[in-house]
Amino acid sequence: MNLLIVAEISRGQLKLATGAAIGFARQVCAAGAHTFDVLLLGSDVGGLVPSVASYGASAVLIAAAPALAEPLADRYADVIAQVARERNTSVVVAAASTFSKDVLPRAAALLDAGMLSDVIGVDASAEEPVFRRVMHAGNVVATVRLAGAVKVLTVRSSAFPTPEKSSATSPAVPVTIDVAALPSGIEFISREEKGAGRPDPTEARIVVSGGRALKNAEDFERLVGGLADTLGAAVGSSRALVDAGITSNALQIGQTGKVVAPELYLAVGISGAIQHVAGMKDAKVIAAINKDPDAPIFAVADYGLVADVYEAVPQIISRLKH
Ligand SMILES: Cc1cc2nc3c(=O)[nH]c(=O)nc-3n(C[C@H](O)[C@H](O)[C@H](O)COP(=O)(O)OP(=O)(O)OC[C@H]3O[C@@H](n4cnc5c(N)ncnc54)[C@H](O)[C@@H]3O)c2cc1C
Repeated sequence: MNLLIVAEISRGQLKLATGAAIGFARQVCAAGAHTFDVLLLGSDVGGLVPSVASYGASAVLIAAAPALAEPLADRYADVIAQVARERNTSVVVAAASTFSKDVLPRAAALLDAGMLSDVIGVDASAEEPVFRRVMHAGNVVATVRLAGAVKVLTVRSSAFPTPEKSSATSPAVPVTIDVAALPSGIEFISREEKGAGRPDPTEARIVVSGGRALKNAEDFERLVGGLADTLGAAVGSSRALVDAGITSNALQIGQTGKVVAPELYLAVGISGAIQHVAGMKDAKVIAAINKDPDAPIFAVADYGLVADVYEAVPQIISRLKH
């Protein structure tokens, strides 16, 4: 099998989650005579070669063109499909993320390939690999075999650690792109980012999330934002606050939001509904503050504080600052 890892790049930076897709490829390669390539897509991505060239890939493929400056799904999918055909790829892999939710299904359709998202395990020792993936907000783990010569997957970053780098370096190989033939059905107009300046919750070591205990946007910013800034952490939110218009849906953690796996997840006034827990249960340490001692969040928390967030959080911020 030859795997193609689609690296995720945002604003010229390699996303850490790409390491999980490479970790997956390394696990597959350890189980048999398999190889993998890493694909860098963008306008000026050559500078990122050193960050992926020491993980044992056969090649780091560079698909660079001004038409790929923004991650427009139809163009990226087209290039991925072209490269997969040319390299005789059997498995296309990317980290599970908003980017890959947009791009990978299109690439799978172009390749007439079956697709699995949220893969958390693989047994590649048999001729046809068997995958494990989460379903129903993480409450069911399905064991799946994908039919077809080409398979497309996204993998959960919490399930596949980034491998150690080695001293050997993979060759960088430019990919020829027929820019005139790229689809133009989607046009990039602008990008609007909320909460700029704070880390991305899917990449951060610490995430502080707030729930319905926070009554308005000012309180959320003062308590959840203030605690996050004191810790150098990312900010997250339950859906209750998104639905109430208090937080942006870019902050939503959970089944229908982002899946995070930080070293520390601090749940501030969040009940712990299964749909929220689905997005954060892989955090290494979970700490929760809730005034209700029976809140379900305490069942998944390693540390719990039964307290009113309006009293406890200012004290925690003050203690951390002094
Ligand atoms: C299909 C589907 C998908 C969903 N996807 C998501 C998702 O992705 N993410 C998500 O978060 N939810 C999701 N939900 C919603 C989810 O079911 C819950 O409704 C939501 O998570 C509740 O948010 P919450 O914990 O902030 O609010 P609540 O459940 O209202 O909990 C608030 C908590 O704050 C505590 N509290 C109140 N005041 C204070 C105070 N002063 N001090 C301390 N504690 C206090 C209360 O004891 C309570 O435990 C989804 C639901 C459905 C049906």
